[in-house]
Amino acid sequence: MNHTDTTNSRQISIDRAKHLKLTIQDYLEIKDLIPKGLSRQVEIEAKKQKILSHFGATEDNWNDWQWQLSNRISDVDTLTKIIKLDDKEIEDIKKVGQEFRWSVSPYYTTLIDDNNKYCPIKLMAIPHGYEIANTKGDTDPMAEEFTNPAGSITRRYPDRLIINVTNECAMYCRHCQRRRNIGTNDLHTSREVLQESIDYIRDNPEIRDVLITGGDALTLSNSMLDWLLGELHAIPSVDYIRLGSRTLVTMPQRITDKLINILKKYPPIFINTHFNHPMEITEESKAACDRLSNAGIPLGNQAVLLNGINNNKFVMRLLNHELLKCRVRPYYIFHAKHVIGTSHFNTSVDDGIEIMEYLRGYTSGMAIPTYIINAPGGKGKTPILPQYLISRGSHSIKIRTWDGEVIDYPNHPTIPIEETLK
Ligand SMILES: *Cc1c(COP(=O)(O)O)cnc(C)c1O
Repeated sequence: MNHTDTTNSRQISIDRAKHLKLTIQDYLEIKDLIPKGLSRQVEIEAKKQKILSHFGATEDNWNDWQWQLSNRISDVDTLTKIIKLDDKEIEDIKKVGQEFRWSVSPYYTTLIDDNNKYCPIKLMAIPHGYEIANTKGDTDPMAEEFTNPAGSITRRYPDRLIINVTNECAMYCRHCQRRRNIGTNDLHTSREVLQESIDYIRDNPEIRDVLITGGDALTLSNSMLDWLLGELHAIPSVDYIRLGSRTLVTMPQRITDKLINILKKYPPIFINTHFNHPMEITEESKAACDRLSNAGIPLGNQAVLLNGINNNKFVMRLLNHELLKCRVRPYYIFHAKHVIGTSHFNTSVDDGIEIMEYLRGYTSGMAIPTYIINAPGGKGKTPILPQYLISRGSHSIKIRTWDGEVIDYPNHPTIPIEETLK
């Protein structure tokens, strides 16, 4: 390459870099306006002090997950002492409460921003009149009732399945897809039924991946988890275990040294959690994520696409960036299902596709989860993507790049592998 060529290619690279910078200018301008938990620590701490004095509780109580769980806020009188609510909201919470259970851990309550009428935390945790205003939707959109071959198992795939261990959560998400299971009180699956589930897995060795979920798998006691994980770990055909828990978000106090020491006994264990908004990432939740990562437990995130909370390309991009800083790998974005009482959270599929369009290329592949629609009737997770393959011929295909260029790409017939082995 001679001198002019080098200056020329340098200039081309500079111009291209300038263009790239421009493609995320809109995001850079808006991202600091999106509320983040980590920027709200002072307000969160103030609310915590308010709750502690209301309960006459100590810092030690606060850090005890059993205290958090048994002091979940589930009555309007207590709630009004802690967060700002107008008369209409109070009336609605009372009405909805007769139909659907609600309950919020003291910790998660501290994340609510009283000054934001559309606070995402409030929308996810506190009942709204919409829940009873619209009675459309299913109770069991995934027909889990018909995918239960034994014990408390849900089996919808060839090599993996779910064991449902409880209906209990530290906070009952207003968008919950298993609303029908929440009922009126907390119910852990009996040891007998869990044993049946374990036996089924042992008898069906094609099952290599077991997901423990609920409810929230980490509302189980340490001794119950120790037993269940031990039983599953001892089955030779089980490659690894996954735990589904939102406690990292709603009750990070659950991630104690004792728990970590139990989890460490049964590797490999993965945990998938459920952050939906950057406001949910706080010093406490980040510390809980760090403790798990440091113990060798990889973390993934399963967000739900929710109207008015995260159905926005910039909010979702920021959420995924903030998650990676906590070593949580974005895994799925679920399209919200049509569940009774949650229709106000439903978005169009276009919102999800637009989010995916503005992730690929614009940010690290690490920050890009798969967008999933759960096919009704328990027919399985179905990935939804913007269109990148424009046309397909036997000798050439046309692709569209993330940046919108349409390009021809050669296609060749496959040489059968047997030919190469001759
Ligand atoms: C979601 C789900 C799984 C896990 O699916 P992955 O795509 O492997 O994360 C397994 N079983 C059931 C019944 C599920 O709903």
